Formats: sequence, structure tokens, C-alpha cells
Amino acid sequence: MKQVLKTSLYIFLTLLAIVVINVAFFVYKAKSGIPDFESRPPSIPTEMNDFSVLVFSKTNAFRHSGAIEASIPAFEQMAKENAWSLFVTNNGAVFNEEQLAQFDVVIWNNSTGKVLKTEQENAFKKYMENGGGFVGIHGAGDGSHRWDWYEDEMIGARFSHHSLQPQFQMANMNLECDSTSTFTCQGLPAKWTRSEEWYVFFDNPRDKGFRPIYTVDENTFNPSGNLGSMIKDKDFGMGDDHPIVWYKELASGGRSFYSALGHAGTAFEEAKYLDLLKRGILWAGQ
Ligand SMILES: [Zn+2]
Repeated sequence: MKQVLKTSLYIFLTLLAIVVINVAFFVYKAKSGIPDFESRPPSIPTEMNDFSVLVFSKTNAFRHSGAIEASIPAFEQMAKENAWSLFVTNNGAVFNEEQLAQFDVVIWNNSTGKVLKTEQENAFKKYMENGGGFVGIHGAGDGSHRWDWYEDEMIGARFSHHSLQPQFQMANMNLECDSTSTFTCQGLPAKWTRSEEWYVFFDNPRDKGFRPIYTVDENTFNPSGNLGSMIKDKDFGMGDDHPIVWYKELASGGRSFYSALGHAGTAFEEAKYLDLLKRGILWAGQ
């Protein structure tokens, strides 16, 4: 009997250790990422339509698997309806001057972590400085990228946390659209209530010259990112002005559009969200 208890205890402790190691690895990967880089570029089609889009879904930190999986057929359908060429890859080596120049828009599709080597980062920077188009979705704006230029110039706000009480909440978003908007916002819903894992940023992208398309009303959800005794310093939001989708024309002529919406796969089944993304892609690539 004693031996049985002893064996059971060993099994229990071993399983516990495995669980603890896995959780620790998951948290580390989500927060800091594990670098993994490619050197051999993918083959891309030699013939492209007038409007061509690169969908880059590489993750070296947290992977929004459901969203990424659901987004690909949604983008394929969008491309078909609008006669775009679409190239989908997780290969960071596509970030070279020659291949990037083939695309009107590069979508960072929930791409997280440090995903590019220095030379690949420089190629993307040059692409944007030459008038390229960037579309960032949700995780593309989290705090895992470890690349100052990207966070400051492409996203324009530093990520703090996301809602955790609970993680997914219904909230109201308000449209900002007037005659000075270069983004085609006419016809988007003025008020839009939807469920999301709401991102909170340390700073307001408005201060860096980004123009919000939607802000989220913090009176309609709880932005706290506190989690029991594990996270205790994230009980805050962004106050009365909480941008959640925004855009900016860069001095170089490049264009950046970022949507913090898009955690769940179901987002890519929402007609209104797909319409917003389509507008973002077209605007970024004009
Ligand atoms: Zn998320």
C-alpha cells in the first residue's frame, strides 16, 4: 500500500512539473517570443494582378491560431471578389527588397514576436519609405515585437495589456469620420457593438499623428487586465479616448492601418469587420 502511495505521489509530482514547465514556457513565449528566422525566400508568382497583397502570419510569440486559420479563406474570398493577387506566407525571408516591391499591401496578420532578422527589418522599412502599404491586425500591435521603429512608426502606440475581467466582452465602438478623413469611412456603422479581447495601450496613437477610425467606449466594458494574484498592476484603461482602429499617412508616402480588433476566428465571419479590413487594405495600397 505504501509503495502504491509513493508511486502515485511520484506520478502526480512528475505531471505537476510537466504542467508547470509548459505553462511557464507558454507565458514566456507569449511575452518574449522565441526567435526563429528564415533565410530562403518563398517562390512568389511571377505574374500579379494590378493590386497585390501579401498576408504574413508568422508568429514567434503568441499564435492566434483560430483567427489566423479563419482569416486566410476570408482574405482569399476578398481577393477573388476584388481581383487582387494574394500571397500567403509565414516565411520572414519574403521581406527582401525585390519581393516586397511586388506588393501593394503587406498584412501583418496577427503576427507576433520578433519575426524578422535585421536585414529583413531593413527591407520592410525601405518598402514603407518607398510608399508601401501596411495593415496590422490585432496581435500585430501587441508588445512582443521588440522593434522600436515598428512599434512607433507602424503601430504608433505601446501595448500594455488586454481585458481579462473577463477576457471577451461586448462593448460599444464609435466611428470618427469627417470630410477631412482620407480613409473611406463613409458608410461604416457610426455605433458598433461587438465582442472582443480589448487591447489597452500605454499611449494614445493620436499623439503620434495617427487618426482613429474607431474608439471604444470604456463605460461599456471593463478594461482591467488584472488576473487574481498573478497580475496586479493592470487595472486601468485609456480613459475617455481609447482608439482601437487607426491609420496614418507617413511622411514618406507610405500608409499604415492598424486594427486592434481580431482576436477570435469568428471576427473573420463578421461582414462588418471584413468590410472594415477591406477598406483598410484598399486605403493602405492606393
Ligand atoms: Zn488576442
